Amino acid sequence: MKRSKQHYKFRYEEKTERQIIRRDRMERKGGFTCSHCRQWVVINDLMGTANRNHCNLCLWSKHVDEKKGDRLSKCQAGMRPIGLTFRIEGAFRRGEIMLIHDCAGCRKLSINRIAADDTSDNILSIFEASLRLEVDLGYRVQHGGILRAVEADREEILTQLFGRV
Ligand SMILES: [Zn+2]
Ligand SMILES: [Zn+2]
Repeated sequence: MKRSKQHYKFRYEEKTERQIIRRDRMERKGGFTCSHCRQWVVINDLMGTANRNHCNLCLWSKHVDEKKGDRLSKCQAGMRPIGLTFRIEGAFRRGEIMLIHDCAGCRKLSINRIAADDTSDNILSIFEASLRLEVDLGYRVQHGGILRAVEADREEILTQLFGRV
């Protein structure tokens, strides 16, 4: 009796894991549940970026990629948006705003394009918070070769987010 119960439990867990993997695959097509704020994030053609990897509301991401778009990371931890940077377009030209993410699991830093439906007010909040970034995190960003947006970039950020200064 005891043995069959254990056997049942094992099979149940195995099935659950398979179901989770299948659900993840299905979710990737139309969207996914944000691992941070739990809202449903829609993936569609209107976002302006092919690999949606972060929540349009809280802007947290999830460490799913080893290299961009490969979905091969075993980390799977949440990635906190810690600041903004600009896409590099020539030596002196600032391109579009990008988000800097810091993985809560393995501390990997990555930069990601913002999507058309990302909440502008929340992007601005991330910028404001990043002006008071913890020293060690600021150092890691700098050491990682990422040029973090600073107070002097405020005008450019407001223009890109809200189309005005
Ligand atoms: Zn979220
Ligand atoms: Zn990670």
